[in-house]
Amino acid sequence: MGDFPALSLGCYPTPLEKLENLSKKYGVQFYVKREDLSGPGFGGNKVRKLRYLLAEALKRNATHVLTYGAHQTNHGRETAACCRKLGIKPLLFLLSPSEELMPLGNLILNCLMDCEIHMEPLKPKNNVYESLQRLKTRAEERILEIERLGGVCYEIPAGGMNPLGCLGYTEALIEIQEQAKQAGFIPDYIAHASGTGGTLSGLLSGVAMIGSSAQILSFSVDQEPENKTETIIDHVTAVLKMLGHEPVDEAILVKQVQLISGYFGEGYERPTSGAADAIKELAVEEGLFLDPVYTGKAMYGLLELVKKKTIPPESRVIFLHTGGGPALFAERDITGFDFLDSN
Ligand SMILES: *Cc1c(COP(=O)(O)O)cnc(C)c1O
Repeated sequence: MGDFPALSLGCYPTPLEKLENLSKKYGVQFYVKREDLSGPGFGGNKVRKLRYLLAEALKRNATHVLTYGAHQTNHGRETAACCRKLGIKPLLFLLSPSEELMPLGNLILNCLMDCEIHMEPLKPKNNVYESLQRLKTRAEERILEIERLGGVCYEIPAGGMNPLGCLGYTEALIEIQEQAKQAGFIPDYIAHASGTGGTLSGLLSGVAMIGSSAQILSFSVDQEPENKTETIIDHVTAVLKMLGHEPVDEAILVKQVQLISGYFGEGYERPTSGAADAIKELAVEEGLFLDPVYTGKAMYGLLELVKKKTIPPESRVIFLHTGGGPALFAERDITGFDFLDSN
């Protein structure tokens, strides 16, 4: 986008599919944007951001890329996969929820890619994105060591959340509008799960650029830092400036988005029974797998709004499937299935 090059990583455009069975069941027109099929390392929404971030890493001749996340980080897995493809060494600085950590889900994949993994315990009740700050100090020491040996490090923030990464979702919003137009409809809602706010900032910048009548429903998966709205406005402003676009009135942006925060349960990476229900419902109705940390919670929230008719019947709703499927394999309990009782 603009003067910013993107690597040709990933399979784009990702498909926009109608969810026929779910649409019939609820009397709402449901579509899913398959960002989970974006390619490298089982795909997900981070690949779009990495197309821009890793273009910059290559420009700086990086030999090592460092990034941050929770222990089941999808972002880390997608970053590692893209880095391996480009011949760059991935380093992950992760927060672990307990002392005895089983290698499951994303962690298996990150081990298979031979990532250099550094773990730090996550203090209960702390916001994950704030706790990540503690890992920074350790990363800084490691950067100095690598540089002493002649390596070049490129650091990517948790979730790929900076204006350059956000460009990926500015592009995605434009792609979505085109695909919807080709499919002959105008979306009333675009719903997605939000973590760092990078995806949302990108989408809103896209709205600011090309205009869209869709309301963005942004379901939060963690306790929100108080300054989330400010952070998002700052990122939208920065993206628009990078693209040489006029700044947009804050009030107009705020009107176009609903930040919805009641569905994260006890916190980040803690499954909820509502999310488990939504995961099963989508698996049964559509053979589509959501994830326990992000999309399951967002879909549960979205279905509640549909049931309450806050989203009116016949509305056209696009749900962004932002990926995360591998984390399902770290959540055995989610099935609620007792194998001993089954016959
Ligand atoms: C990272 C992630 C998100 C959230 O994206 P942000 O840009 O951090 O808000 C949503 N869904 C999945 C599966 C993710 O991995």
